[in-house]
Amino acid sequence: MPDEAATAALGRRLGAILRPGDLVALRGDLGAGKSALSRALIRSVTHEDAEVPSPTFTLVQTYDTAIGPVWHFDLYRLSGPDEVYELGWDDARAEAVALVEWPDRLGPLLPPDRVEVTMRHDGPDARRATLTGHGALAARVAAADWT
Ligand code: ADP
Ligand code: MG
Repeated sequence: MPDEAATAALGRRLGAILRPGDLVALRGDLGAGKSALSRALIRSVTHEDAEVPSPTFTLVQTYDTAIGPVWHFDLYRLSGPDEVYELGWDDARAEAVALVEWPDRLGPLLPPDRVEVTMRHDGPDARRATLTGHGALAARVAAADWT
């Protein structure tokens, strides 16, 4: 049953293979579980009761974690790709893991080397996630244990 606990487990597994410089593009409709997955990932590399607010209004939240800095973006309200530079985009890319909800808002700034996660509703408390590595991240995603 791919319930919220399953989403959390996926977040933990994903967190275990990420390192600074990596970017995860999180796709799916409102309520699909992008933030739930991000929260579980961030808690797994900080501590289980860490405050992980949704970056809906702030557009970005940053964390110091066991895998280095993690920057969690929600770009739904971004007015244009270049606005990410005002959020510290260059610093995020240089030194952090970037988790990006609504990655299409980046337009041409979306990097080719990335993990793509797409989440879909599959019932009230069930979700389906597909996860693929692109470019330099393809081999690492393929080699990881997702079971
Ligand atoms: P998004 O960031 O994609 O808009 P959220 O993670 O904020 O979505 O919201 C997902 C909502 O769906 C939360 O209220 C969460 O409790 C609920 N939910 C129910 N089942 C699941 C599941 N299997 N995985 C993730 N979230 C779930
Ligand atoms: Mg969200």
